[in-house]
Amino acid sequence: MSNNFGIQEALKQLGIKEINSGTSTGSKWLSNDGEVISSYSPVDGQLIGKIHATTASQYEQIVQSSADAFKTWRLMPAPKRGEIVRQIGEELRKYKESLGKLVSYEMGKSYQEGLGEVQEMIDICDFAVGLSRQLHGLTMHSERPNHRMYEQYHPLGIVGIISAFNFPVAVWSWNAMLAWVCGDVCIWKASEKTPLCSIACQNIINNVFSKNNVPEGVSCIVNGDYKIGELMTSDKRVPLVSATGSIRMGKKVGAAVGARLGRALLELGGNNAIIISENADLNVAITGALFGAVGTCGQRCTSTRRLIIHESKYEEVKNKLASAYKQLRIGNPLDENNHVGPLIDKDAVAMYLNAIEEIGKQGGKVLVEGGVLTGEEYESGCYVKPVIAEASNDLQIVQEETFAPILYIMKYKELDEAVAIQNGVVQGLSSAIMTTNMREAENFLSHAGSDCGIANVNIGTSGAEIGGAFGGEKETGGGRESGSDAWKVYMRRQTNTINYGKDLPLAQGIKFDL
Ligand code: NAD
Repeated sequence: MSNNFGIQEALKQLGIKEINSGTSTGSKWLSNDGEVISSYSPVDGQLIGKIHATTASQYEQIVQSSADAFKTWRLMPAPKRGEIVRQIGEELRKYKESLGKLVSYEMGKSYQEGLGEVQEMIDICDFAVGLSRQLHGLTMHSERPNHRMYEQYHPLGIVGIISAFNFPVAVWSWNAMLAWVCGDVCIWKASEKTPLCSIACQNIINNVFSKNNVPEGVSCIVNGDYKIGELMTSDKRVPLVSATGSIRMGKKVGAAVGARLGRALLELGGNNAIIISENADLNVAITGALFGAVGTCGQRCTSTRRLIIHESKYEEVKNKLASAYKQLRIGNPLDENNHVGPLIDKDAVAMYLNAIEEIGKQGGKVLVEGGVLTGEEYESGCYVKPVIAEASNDLQIVQEETFAPILYIMKYKELDEAVAIQNGVVQGLSSAIMTTNMREAENFLSHAGSDCGIANVNIGTSGAEIGGAFGGEKETGGGRESGSDAWKVYMRRQTNTINYGKDLPLAQGIKFDL
């Protein structure tokens, strides 16, 4: 099946071999002596390639190499680093199709979404290039005469990036491109479920790095499971760990980094809801809810998991959604006629099946039945039917993020009640209201409205642009990545006061005369 969609050609272009080293300081790949990780495609169950995981002693080599690289990289003027990132953006444009294909094949999202993910990488490169001529601090007026006070931002050092399987390339680039223009060096630990994507990215940027004589160590790759991640989270030489993944992982990473008073940027799970008001344009609402719930097979951190529907529209929305679900084509995500691809692996399928069982046990009611698809086209065993269930918000299963296409629907009468339901979960990533009523929209966005990091009007919960800061509140972790002033977390802030006078007045008027 894979040959039909040009996968083998893409792997070749991206430099993916049958067996790859998973550890790199840039152009150098360290010798293959670590444990072997096999990457199977959820699309057709075929082995795509193998990698050798990073050993503890290789990790030491990597940290040493990054620490050395930081000493020179931080001295290069930021716009010059920006120029290198600009060239990375150009290189990504050349490899957009092949990388998009690998993302789709290794992770299982649609080819269109794979291309979209690479486009996000290109966009963040463009953004970072502009930023490289900014990275500005403020100037303040000093209370002391003949004094000047300002703040400036300096690079932090080594940034550890731990990424999740569902955005196997974009999340790294959100972090790395900003970190690099800020003058930091990066060590990326990709998800053990999508390791080949990390090898491909390293090969792509290497073309640029070697042309520009970028030192070894600026872009390092380590691979393996949580144990390699733990080496990074407990390592004092890594001042910032940016970790994307489940809340369970985030609590461990936050505790480990916090215990050494390092900085953790956490991008964790969501439990995102759309409120569909009595004043909603139902065409917009249904399309937004549908893409949000079944896109990427429900495996986005911003996937729509709950629909909170005004009682007057409940039956209509329920029926329209149910008939839209019937038209969904589930199948190979590289075939652009399909809407829904597979889940990442059989463990994810087991979690999906368990959640469906729990819905019934906990008092919910399944409206659009689920199930695992069988047959030649579904030979990986990872293709499932998207589910709609009626369930109250307080059910334990509704409170959890099941990383699968299961949509819970529920009713409300008054907007305050809908907002309370929307906020009534531990996660706080993305939220939306569908309404044409200005008062409802503004209330939803007010201090008393959505408590999430992202709050949209007449847009679904998924599909953010890189220009805004991305992240969520509460147990989603509080981190912000990508646009706006998210770059500040990759730098250390320093306040400078300069006395150009002939005496030394003290702040707060304190006298200390001899
Ligand atoms: P996961 O938590 O299983 O793994 C994520 C990464 O963390 C992997 O690289 C893994 O090896 C590593 N890891 C796990 N335990 C660790 C530990 N104790 N120390 C160091 N590293 C550790 O998540 P996943 O299944 O790959 O991804 C799905 C989850 O990610 C979902 O919860 C989703 O909502 C979340 N996610 C969040 C965002 C966001 O921006 N908020 C974006 C994408 C995914």
